Amino acid sequence: AGVCSAAPAEAAQLAYRKKMAECDSEMPFEKNALMVSNDCSRKYYRGAFLGKGRTSSCVLLQDASTRKCFAGKMIDMEDLELLHPNRKRRLEREMDIHSEMTHPNIVRYEGYVDVGSYRFILLEYCSMRSLADLQRNRGTITEPEARFYVKQIASALMYMHDRSIAHRDLKSRNVLLDAQMQVKVCDFGLADYLHDRGTLHKLCGTRAYMAPEMLARLRYTTSVDIWSLGCILYQLLVGVLPFLSEQTTEEAAKEGPLRYRPILTPLSTEAREIIDALLNNAPERRPTARAIAFMSFMQGFTPATLPPASAHMPPTFD
Ligand code: ADP
Repeated sequence: AGVCSAAPAEAAQLAYRKKMAECDSEMPFEKNALMVSNDCSRKYYRGAFLGKGRTSSCVLLQDASTRKCFAGKMIDMEDLELLHPNRKRRLEREMDIHSEMTHPNIVRYEGYVDVGSYRFILLEYCSMRSLADLQRNRGTITEPEARFYVKQIASALMYMHDRSIAHRDLKSRNVLLDAQMQVKVCDFGLADYLHDRGTLHKLCGTRAYMAPEMLARLRYTTSVDIWSLGCILYQLLVGVLPFLSEQTTEEAAKEGPLRYRPILTPLSTEAREIIDALLNNAPERRPTARAIAFMSFMQGFTPATLPPASAHMPPTFD
């Protein structure tokens, strides 16, 4: 049985590595290449390919003089300027918003460097990948681990929401982990300020994590991020997303409340209660990021740190 269950995971790993290698081979700079900034003031070595996102790819960069490592988010500015003026405005907004943020659970923005027609946004390097990888490797995690992650995500959200910023694309792929397994929320590509009446209205983000009010095209607030956090927590404890992206259509949200998939794994009452609260269809009834810390689920044992090995297997708590 062990062989049967390991095979799909191994096949997925192989397919993933193949895809990464393909993306890497399309990169304009080869691995280990020395890249010189356009103003000749800085030099970086290109390291490993880190991943491909919706609009850009990321590579490891090492400053040739200080040896400091960064994740470099690479954007083809020529392409952006010619073909996607809207995306260029978004990128400027992303850099503006991200550069304003200083919080231990938000990926640090370290400026940018232009090399040829490419811009590299320099970000704090998160070597333990994302919560999506953690979930893929582990299937489900323990409740103390879930508390460890939720506490830090909620802290990052509190910081953003206090500044009237909604992230709008919170998902397990955008919650990165550094070498100490500390949470670092990334990707401010869709983040925005809540305007005049404290609301936003644009439909954006990733369907499976989208709050019902956004799907129903109503005005919404920062509580859309709380819904997304509910999706992440459900995913970590149950092993699958609460809503399929096809299911979370605008029609479904218009017709009535969105109901998450039945939970078949054994979970504590407190865990079920916090999932229900975060995934409340009425946005005003969801807890705020600040209130999450006071929920019963969050009062249980929370480890102060987690070992990097917990990316692959359950940790032991003494
Ligand atoms: P998007 O185009 O969706 O904004 P990103 O360029 O932010 O995507 O990220 C692409 C991929 O690069 C991510 O899925 C992640 O695997 C990796 N990545 C992004 N930022 C970092 C980082 N700071 N440290 C390590 N890996 C990162």
